[in-house]
Amino acid sequence: MDNPLLIFDRSVDGRVGYLVPDGDVPAVGPSTVLAPHILRSLPAELPQVSEPEVLRHYIGLSLKNHHVDRDLYPLGSCTMKYNPKVNDALAARPGFSGLHPGQSADDTQGALELMYRLEKALKAITGMDRFTLQPAAGSQGELVGVLIMRKYHDSQGSRRRYIIIPDSAHGTNPASVVMGGFETLKVTTDRRGRVDLKDLEDKVSPEVAGMMLTQPNTLGLFEDQIVAITNLIHSVDGLMYMDGANLNALIGLTRPADMGFDITHINLHKTFSTPHGGGGPGSGPIGVTERLAGYLPGPLVAHNDDGSYGMVSPGTDSIGRVHGQNGNFGMLVRAYAYILSLGADGLANMSRRAVLNANYLKALLAGDDGAFELPYPEGIMHEFVLSGSRQKARGVKTLDMAKALLDRGFHAPTIYFPLVVPEALMIEPTESETKATLERFADALKEIDRLVDDDPQSLLDAPQNTPVGRLDETKANRELDVRWRA
Ligand SMILES: *Cc1c(COP(=O)(O)O)cnc(C)c1O
Repeated sequence: MDNPLLIFDRSVDGRVGYLVPDGDVPAVGPSTVLAPHILRSLPAELPQVSEPEVLRHYIGLSLKNHHVDRDLYPLGSCTMKYNPKVNDALAARPGFSGLHPGQSADDTQGALELMYRLEKALKAITGMDRFTLQPAAGSQGELVGVLIMRKYHDSQGSRRRYIIIPDSAHGTNPASVVMGGFETLKVTTDRRGRVDLKDLEDKVSPEVAGMMLTQPNTLGLFEDQIVAITNLIHSVDGLMYMDGANLNALIGLTRPADMGFDITHINLHKTFSTPHGGGGPGSGPIGVTERLAGYLPGPLVAHNDDGSYGMVSPGTDSIGRVHGQNGNFGMLVRAYAYILSLGADGLANMSRRAVLNANYLKALLAGDDGAFELPYPEGIMHEFVLSGSRQKARGVKTLDMAKALLDRGFHAPTIYFPLVVPEALMIEPTESETKATLERFADALKEIDRLVDDDPQSLLDAPQNTPVGRLDETKANRELDVRWRA
């Protein structure tokens, strides 16, 4: 076998992958320490392999997948940027990774100080007054935000039924609204790709608890009427929630609080560089303005008068706890390390470059001689959404083009989302890609566009150069079966 799938297939009796000096303490038989009934009778079934073989095995597995350390991963809205390895090294330091959640505040001053400082940085970045670091994902943050809206209106003795959401919203938005006990009220997108203000005016009423809005929106466009929107919602004492998953476009340029938002989540794993995807751990802190601080989940980090740090329980208005301890702490370490290493100017530069990269790629693909249709071209921030309608009319769907990109060594963009663009290809290159990489990617998509006429079958059969060929997507999702069988 050239490249065996299982590490057990590489196993050879007696081969070892470690080198340790002989012990100089006398061996103690296990039976003198452990009771016989808990002793294993068979030897552990472990592969017997050398160190290079272990390495080759795992490198080989990692090459079967696409990841951002291999090449561009332009998955729109997901911000698959480069994750500096130093962040991982810092999070793995024993003082952080070896903490037990039950340790006392005295024992964990460093961790508490890190959370305190991270919260301070997030407040400066967003203009919000208080954060909880507990939520384990953007979507959990959204739920926290919706529950805060609920508590706020309850405390005003006001019964509200709806939360307004644009029709371009991320799927988690309506899900969070419904889980939080509200109904969604959809507002349409205007010809410029922004919230249709007329439609919004028609929908705002005292039955509206608030609005959840992504800024920049999922078309990659800045909602430039944001002040009119927040004023309108506030005029019925509604609360404005910013889905801040796209914050990568905004740092140093504007802040949620300055635009009139009352609540925002931040996806630390997107904007502040934690490896993510595939359901890995995330972190979606929620920030609120002063008047909503009492509703946050607790406990919150406190900086005591004597200079020490502690945890304080929230007051009786709190929506309660949403995660054990302090959320996914390793993510907090990575985010703080990232923020410190870039600094305020570096972060502002990051956002500017993310916007510049998206606009350059947009110009390559949808410029005057562009092969692709771009339905909402004005005011592109960190991402843009092409339509594959022209290609579909010639017999090749967006899905086929996405598969053909895999053959060319790129991850596909997000496809068929947002729903307001037919045959959507949502492309977010991020700031960490070079001009040359963007050009390589644009060339690949343009070549695919030419093949729509010259050799459509090669696209319909793609991918052919990946470890597995075209899957039945529905079956793969509904009947997930990742167990290996001989
Ligand atoms: C990623 C994303 C979310 C959800 O974040 P998770 O951490 O994946 O739960 C919500 N809204 C937008 C716009 C996103 O891109």
